[in-house]
Amino acid sequence: MKTLRAYKYRLYPTKKQTEKLQWTLDRARELYNAALQERRDAYEIKVKRHPNAHDEATRKQLTKEHALTYNQQATQLPEIKRVRPEYHDIHSQVLQDVLRRVKKTCDAFFRRIKEGQTPGYPRFKGCGVYDSFTFPQSGFSLTEDNRVCLSKIGTIKVKFPKGKKARPPRGEMKTCTIKREGQHWFIIFVCKVEQEIIYHPSGEAVGIDLGLLHFATLSDGSTIENPRYLRKSAKKLKKLQEALSRKKRGSKRRRKAAQRVGKVHRQIRNQRKDFHHKEARKLIIQYQSIVFEKLQPANMSKRPKPKQDETTGQYLPNGASAKAGLNKSIHDAGWGQFQQICVNKAECAGSRILFVSPKDTSQMCSGCGALVQKNLEERWHECSCGCSLDRDHNAAINILRIGLNHEPTHKKRQKPFQARTEPSEDAPLKSPRL
Ligand SMILES: [Zn+2]
Repeated sequence: MKTLRAYKYRLYPTKKQTEKLQWTLDRARELYNAALQERRDAYEIKVKRHPNAHDEATRKQLTKEHALTYNQQATQLPEIKRVRPEYHDIHSQVLQDVLRRVKKTCDAFFRRIKEGQTPGYPRFKGCGVYDSFTFPQSGFSLTEDNRVCLSKIGTIKVKFPKGKKARPPRGEMKTCTIKREGQHWFIIFVCKVEQEIIYHPSGEAVGIDLGLLHFATLSDGSTIENPRYLRKSAKKLKKLQEALSRKKRGSKRRRKAAQRVGKVHRQIRNQRKDFHHKEARKLIIQYQSIVFEKLQPANMSKRPKPKQDETTGQYLPNGASAKAGLNKSIHDAGWGQFQQICVNKAECAGSRILFVSPKDTSQMCSGCGALVQKNLEERWHECSCGCSLDRDHNAAINILRIGLNHEPTHKKRQKPFQARTEPSEDAPLKSPRL
């Protein structure tokens, strides 16, 4: 079996090479925005301004007829190069990839319309947002002395980590992406590697409830806590953001402050990713089957409806402020990323990751299957069957049970709570592994 794997390394371009990389990035962004503009105009003029655009069937038909395709745009590349000769200095496949990105964004836009949503039209990219370009097939190679040779750019030094992980990408290299993160440049190889079939040594299974109070609660009652250093960094970030908002717009000091904010953002992202990797690794080593709830961030992030008093018409507290805090934490916790890391690691370890519907997992009694309604603040599950345990622990047992298709256990579970991880003090920051 073959799977795709990504390898990310830091690049060390010279000053001149950095300029060239940035120049390429700028041209790619320019092309992206121009291609998007063209598609947008076509949509605007041919579809939205059509006299019968209000009719849904007509609109769908028009959209189908007039949407620009990737091929239509790609055939214009030679013409673009004639008018703007500097585009000759960029590998042609890199330019094709830019157009493919535009296509992907627009496809997603039309798919969402089709699904009945009202998405905003794809946005133009500013220089801070557009941060990578890709060689989709060729135009790149690795040299013997740890350099990467990029077509029309040059030969740039790469740093492979030392020790056990010092592995230049193995297998068949598929794509190569150059990415800027702040002032740093990275290279990401996506390789097709042979995947051996591995059998996990244990037959153990675990259900995991991801939460806000504890990062995760396992079906054996243990918990994984959010590391304290993340909260510390968040505090630092808040301070820097306040400092940024005090600086005058367009000033040099403001730009410096914005750079500092960006740096801490990246730091937090890396720290969190590192934490996720560590915890995922422990779980994968121990368990053959891991069951999660399917995440539904779209629903969870919705604002609660305003509540009105029936007789007086006054607005009542609807929990919006509490939920706003909750939303923030949902995005902060990065559960989706954690689950994805688990899925990736499981593949190499012979474990399997299962996802179950989150319906009733916290309300249902893990002992007898009865529904015991409780709101978010109630932290304890207490059932008439004698089942009494922490709310999240109860949910984790349900998740495991649903994942393995088992009936409620009819067993009392009152194991004392024990923390799986101590919230640790600042751990050294490591570069993220992909
Ligand atoms: Zn019960």
